[in-house]
Amino acid sequence: MRKKALHQEMTYTDFKEGRFDKAILAVGSAENHGFHLPFGTDALVAQAIAQEVAQRVNGMLVLPPVTYGVSEHYGHFPFTLTLRPEILIEVLKDIFRSSIRQGIQRIIIVNGHDGNIAPIEIAARSVKVEYPQAFLASLDAWWVTAGELLPPGTFEVWGGLGHAGEGETSIVLHLFPELCRMENARGVVPDLPSELTIKWKFDELTPYGATGDPTRGTPEKGKKMFEVLVDWVVRFVQEMEKRNWRYGELLKI
Ligand SMILES: [Zn+2]
Repeated sequence: MRKKALHQEMTYTDFKEGRFDKAILAVGSAENHGFHLPFGTDALVAQAIAQEVAQRVNGMLVLPPVTYGVSEHYGHFPFTLTLRPEILIEVLKDIFRSSIRQGIQRIIIVNGHDGNIAPIEIAARSVKVEYPQAFLASLDAWWVTAGELLPPGTFEVWGGLGHAGEGETSIVLHLFPELCRMENARGVVPDLPSELTIKWKFDELTPYGATGDPTRGTPEKGKKMFEVLVDWVVRFVQEMEKRNWRYGELLKI
């Protein structure tokens, strides 16, 4: 039986019975994902990972997901909605702060969207300084981590990368096949020098709202990605529990 772990579905009684001592937060976006993936892709995938992790460890509360993100650079493609970066930073800080004040000080963040990486970094580091006893850690870019964890050759084009590309399309085909319109999948691999991080606007890279090759996406690849990512986060949480959530050396200075 699946454990009751979703904050949104929980009563106070459920919460007390759950003996939660840590939380997981999915952060997504509300943006165009090519012609073939749903606007909610980033939040849906991050939330699916968060929910599955919570099933596999004890005492993990799944916070309500943040379903809007920083998508200004995707704004050319309908129907993208965005928060300004400073707003997402403040939203995240308030979520972290209120969770900590309610007594859950260990927070894992599962990010689903590139535009959120910097706001998550700023918000989590600021709150850590405000509440030094808190523990915050993030899976910043599952689309990169999945490629690193899976055997070489798993993906056919561009290491599976791309917004609504081979990897992201695969994971949505695995988790939410009914939401995909694969007959319309189109993408392009941009010619991006990688030595430095270019601050592109997405319409500079693609006319389709997608990069990479979504037509190579399969549910089989997506299942492997999902499983390896859930395992990765679960192992991290288990390792931190073993260490009693301590890390590093305290140097007397
Ligand atoms: Zn996405």
